[in-house]
Amino acid sequence: MDGNVLRVLARLSGNRGDLKDKTVRKDLNALAARLLFRQEPGNFNQAMMELGALLCIPNGRPKCGECPVQSFCEACHQDAVDQIPRKTRKPRRKMENRTVFVIRFQDRIALRKRQEQGLLSGLWEFPNRYGHLSPEEIGKVLTEWGICPETITPLPDAKHVFSHLEWHMKGYAVRVRGRKETCSFVWARQEEIHHSYSVPSAFHAYLKALGKV
Ligand code: SF4
Repeated sequence: MDGNVLRVLARLSGNRGDLKDKTVRKDLNALAARLLFRQEPGNFNQAMMELGALLCIPNGRPKCGECPVQSFCEACHQDAVDQIPRKTRKPRRKMENRTVFVIRFQDRIALRKRQEQGLLSGLWEFPNRYGHLSPEEIGKVLTEWGICPETITPLPDAKHVFSHLEWHMKGYAVRVRGRKETCSFVWARQEEIHHSYSVPSAFHAYLKALGKV
């Protein structure tokens, strides 16, 4: 049903629920069916939509003084037009900065497996760390991973939006002179990454950069 009509019906009946709620919509649909002027359903629907668009407006105070149905409007009687319909605020997405490394040793790229639980569980990813790391922090992390870098080149920033979370990523291409196996990376050829490893779309920007690093 049209959003304008839903709002009018919610106010007319004093329904304080959220219009996104299935039960509320069901109740309002039932009310619409009861109110429908069956001789002229088209005109009735048009009138309801216009009432919602012109008088019973969504933002700002509705123009109840000019409204032809004010005498039987519950929201108006209860002085609750600014509370009906209820507006539920979406929880804000959490922002998370990450630093992503596309590490190449000869013709192979480092990947690691994500944990078996939680976000993107069990999928493969380019090694990364929370936060936007400083050059000193990058050096420390690579040492910790047993990576001896030859060159470190910035890659374009990337962003990925999950339903509850946003990743803001800074990327670096790292060419490796030598490595010790101090971490649980696998080293895969580019074509293997595309065919044999499930790398989530969150890392799409860095997958695309593989040919250039
Ligand atoms: S009286 Fe006010 S709140 Fe009620 S339907 Fe009319 S404009 Fe909307």
